[in-house]
Amino acid sequence: METLTLWIDGRREPATSGRSGDVFNPATGEVVRKVAFAGAADVDRAVQAARAAFPAWRATTPLRRGRILTRFRELMEQHRDELVQLATEEHGKTLADAAGSVQRGIEVIEFAAGAPHLLKGEHAEDVGRGVDCHSLLQPVGVCAGITPFNFPVMVPLWMFPVAIACGNTFVLKPSEKVPSCSLRMAQLFQEAGLPDGVLNVVPGDKEAVDALLNHPGVGAISFVGSTPVAKYVYETAARNGKRVQALGGAKNHAVVLPDADLDFTADALIGSAYGSAGQRCMAISAVVAVGAVGDALVAKLKDKAAALKVGRGDQAGIDMGPVISAAHRDRIVGLIDSGVREGARLVLDGRGIRVPGGESGFFVGPTLFDGVTPEMDIYREEIFGPVLIVLRAASLDEAIALINRNPYGNGTAIFTRSGAAARRFENEIEVGMVGINVPIPVPMAFFSFGGWKASLFGDLHMHGMEGVWFYTRTKTVTSRWPAEPGASGGGLVMPTM
Ligand code: NAD
Repeated sequence: METLTLWIDGRREPATSGRSGDVFNPATGEVVRKVAFAGAADVDRAVQAARAAFPAWRATTPLRRGRILTRFRELMEQHRDELVQLATEEHGKTLADAAGSVQRGIEVIEFAAGAPHLLKGEHAEDVGRGVDCHSLLQPVGVCAGITPFNFPVMVPLWMFPVAIACGNTFVLKPSEKVPSCSLRMAQLFQEAGLPDGVLNVVPGDKEAVDALLNHPGVGAISFVGSTPVAKYVYETAARNGKRVQALGGAKNHAVVLPDADLDFTADALIGSAYGSAGQRCMAISAVVAVGAVGDALVAKLKDKAAALKVGRGDQAGIDMGPVISAAHRDRIVGLIDSGVREGARLVLDGRGIRVPGGESGFFVGPTLFDGVTPEMDIYREEIFGPVLIVLRAASLDEAIALINRNPYGNGTAIFTRSGAAARRFENEIEVGMVGINVPIPVPMAFFSFGGWKASLFGDLHMHGMEGVWFYTRTKTVTSRWPAEPGASGGGLVMPTM
């Protein structure tokens, strides 16, 4: 069986740690390949390669960096199907869904290819008499990215194209559950002309993550994953003097007002809750039905969810694939059990689903709960599976207060025909990404992606201009060119302009 290796300094490298892990096809439950796990010495080699590549890459003009990114984008287009298939094989999501996420990732490369424009600083003439001021956006050095299993292509692409466009070199630690796409993208980037050592990939687990967080040669850490690990990454890396953006988990609510178009809303909620088997950080996992809308909405959700076709993501006509692992399936089933125990009404039960051809796969069917209250575990926990829960609220005020009390603040949506209600919602809600009649409001590459509260530790969000600011250090230059000899160079007093 194939064992994937590390990618250091532009070539495949074995791990010296002697450790490796199994990569599963979640639809069949089979191990499809193995992956070497980087240890601290392997991570050190990757960081050294990135450090060695940094001076020449930093000196490469943004225009030339942008051209290599443009060629990388073309190669990503050419190899789109291969990446989509790898993502489906290792993650389980449907091919069409994987294709959508690959496209959203490619859009970040398009954004980053505009490096010459993105890296323009500010300039002001005459900040004082004869004194000008301008700012430079300079790279940080070696940056590292640590990514989750749920978007094998897109989430790594939130990070390394922007970091590399800004003149940094990069070490990527992809999820050990879905390592193939990251390794393939590193090869394609090399084919596009990226110099060796600018992008390195070190699959692995906590040992590799800890080595990056503690390595003095790494200047910045980008992380996407669950909240407990995000918090740990943020605290550890910050203690070591690194800049950090650590995106965590979510519990995304959709508020449905009585004036919403119910069919439109139910379709949107179904796609958002059950797409990718609920394993999206922007999935709607909690519906807040306001006023009298609840019963009719739950009836529509039940019919539509029950009609979803569950199966292998690589087969035609399938709406929803498996979840990532047997352990994750068991955790989701345990949470469904707890919802029943705690008194929620199980409207649709996805436990014990049988999938032809996927008897050993990690499947959970679409599950719907009504009558959920905020004390229940199915509300408090991020389930990260195909389980949608419905809560009731008497008013928009109550719905907003409920969402603002939730510790997470990644995404949210409101469904209504009232502009005034939507405007109030966007103004008062304490969540980083808001949809108005849009169930998964993932910002495009040229805006920035990130939540609030326990969904993001740090301050700058991913990609868009915040991504550029995260991967650059601002240097501000104040200059004066006295025309006449003998001009005063200033005295002991703090100068005022
Ligand atoms: P995870 O936190 O288990 O793993 C994320 C990364 O951290 C992986 O590379 C993993 O190897 C590493 N890791 C895991 N445990 C670690 C530990 N104890 N110490 C150091 N490193 C560790 O997350 P996951 O299961 O891969 O992904 C699902 C989670 O990611 C969900 O909570 C989801 O909401 C979240 N997510 C968030 C966003 C966002 O933008 N906010 C996007 C995608 C996924």
